[in-house]
Amino acid sequence: MALKLGFIGARGMVGRVLLERMRQEKDFEHFDTIFFSTSQVGQPAPEDSCEEKLWDAHSIESLSQMDVIISCQGGDYTNELHSPLRQSGWKGYWVDAASTLRMSSDSCLVLDPINKNLIKESLRNGTLDFVGSNCTVSLMLLALAGPLKEGVVEWVNSHTYQAASGGGAAHMRELLKGMGYLYKKHQNLIDDDRGDILALDHLISEDLRNASDFPKEKFGAPLAANLLPWIDSAVEMGQTREEWKGMVEANKILGLNDSLGVDGTCVRVGALRSHSQALTLKLKKSVSADELEKMIGDAHEWVDVVANNKEATIKDLTPAAASGTLRIKVGRIRPMKLSPDMMNVFTVGDQLLWGAAEPLRRFLRILLEDKA
Ligand code: NAP
Repeated sequence: MALKLGFIGARGMVGRVLLERMRQEKDFEHFDTIFFSTSQVGQPAPEDSCEEKLWDAHSIESLSQMDVIISCQGGDYTNELHSPLRQSGWKGYWVDAASTLRMSSDSCLVLDPINKNLIKESLRNGTLDFVGSNCTVSLMLLALAGPLKEGVVEWVNSHTYQAASGGGAAHMRELLKGMGYLYKKHQNLIDDDRGDILALDHLISEDLRNASDFPKEKFGAPLAANLLPWIDSAVEMGQTREEWKGMVEANKILGLNDSLGVDGTCVRVGALRSHSQALTLKLKKSVSADELEKMIGDAHEWVDVVANNKEATIKDLTPAAASGTLRIKVGRIRPMKLSPDMMNVFTVGDQLLWGAAEPLRRFLRILLEDKA
């Protein structure tokens, strides 16, 4: 009999991408799937569902009928439902895109091109909570899989350029509305190629600083024509939570005891989809750029090494090139003038695919293999 799969959050950004990937890979053929919603209970369910209507995502009784629950609903939902469901005696698999359970000692982080053995071992040991890691962490580890496996990396200084869609569906719309706001308001000056560019610059800066009707509810400040070097809440030592996740989650995925140093500044930028990262690698030994490039390119089937020249970089090493694909783009590989044991690397990947949905759907396949 097929496993019963409860899918929660199919309407959100991660949920939509996961649904699409599961359809492409025909994953639904292996499960009896029921879709749940927090806000649209009783409305028609997607065509992949065994039931015509959406079930109530707050009903412990309904949830506990599932063998596997996959949640893309967000951390508040996991906080509210996971414990009561477990306390009710439910022993199914909880698979989650949210960060809530990531650092729990009972959970396993899933990124199978890097840690398939750890995932299988966790299944054998009875782990029931499997969680996708932070999007920039997954993308960084997939980009650096080769050098990490070879054990040549001492630490990574990572500066991120994170897309608006990292915040979810409503954040994407807010970025686009902000772009539209500026264009509509200043269309005459923007379209006038001979106009006074400084006057336009002053007007836009004034809007970014003071316009009370600028769309900024989700990000807290204008993102269009701007950037925001703060993501999530504050933790200790002046770090943000997004920056803190870099080291703790990377080490947990790799099964290391915090021996890989990772730190840097996480920045929200006006890209729509796909996160980019500028990485400085401190190496344990001297490795040439060619050797590093080979280690990166040979690591797994999803890496594309981009040649370090302008033409290839602006064509292939961009959010526009990576979005909607499973390609992990890695380029700008060069030694740094700071020290012979430091390398510069730039990477871009789709944070909704490898950074969120893909590791979760691939975990479902590993679970099926394990149960076969
Ligand atoms: P999201 O787009 O905001 O969707 C989450 C839920 O919000 C939906 O399932 C939906 O639930 C509800 N919702 C309310 N208004 C909506 C609207 N206008 N359009 C669509 N959905 C709406 O969030 P998300 O980006 O998918 O993130 C889900 C979880 O994944 C979060 O924990 C996030 O941290 C994590 N994550 C996200 C990314 C990313 O790149 N976005 C990457 C890795 C991990 P109902 O249908 O029940 O109302």
